[in-house]
Parts: sequence; structure tokens; C-alpha cells
Amino acid sequence: MHEMSLMGGVFEVIEQTLSQHEIKRVLEVKLKVGELTNAQPDALQMAFEAFCKDTICEGAELIIERVPVRGRCRNCQFEFTVSTMFFLCPKCQNTGIEVIQGEELLLESLEVE
Ligand SMILES: [Zn+2]
Repeated sequence: MHEMSLMGGVFEVIEQTLSQHEIKRVLEVKLKVGELTNAQPDALQMAFEAFCKDTICEGAELIIERVPVRGRCRNCQFEFTVSTMFFLCPKCQNTGIEVIQGEELLLESLEVE
């Protein structure tokens, strides 16, 4: 499952963060999930619970913030939100679009006790 490996990367960051502080319990984990990751919220939730099991994260709430895809035109540098899978500059109709946002799956914040 694609979401499992995505969540694995997130948990590496979580563990790194937790190891630097004295924390009893993790209450809430907030993620930023780019639309281009194609991660399904249900599958993310399942992967999250699997990784939390038997750790201080167990029982923590997962909050997912979806991040829209943004592109930058390589021709005219115009930046825009990409609403379809068809990447086309709305200004100059160029199809050379660089993705500048939407591919990421990042740990936004942790609420701990
Ligand atoms: Zn353009």
C-alpha cells in the first residue's frame, strides 16, 4: 500500500522529533498532504494506526490538511493552482509546467503531553 510507505517517512520524522524531547504521549498529529501524492484519507488513517500501535502515539488523532497542486510555467513564470491533471499555463498555453506544490506529505505539527 502506497500510503504505508508515505506514512513510514512521516514516522521517521516523528520519531526524530520525539527523541529530542521528553514526551509521555502524543495527542494529535497534523499532516499536510499534497493532492499529487494520491494518498487516500482512509488508507492514511489505517497506515497511521498501524504505525502508532504500541508506541506513545497510540490513540493519537490524525488530522489531514490537503494541499492543492500549484504549478509554475517554464515559459512565462506564471504561478497557478492546477485543478485538473492536464497541466497547461492559463496565460500562455504552454504545457511546460513545473510543479511547485502538491507532491509533499509533511508533518505539520505534533500535539504532545
Ligand atoms: Zn505561461
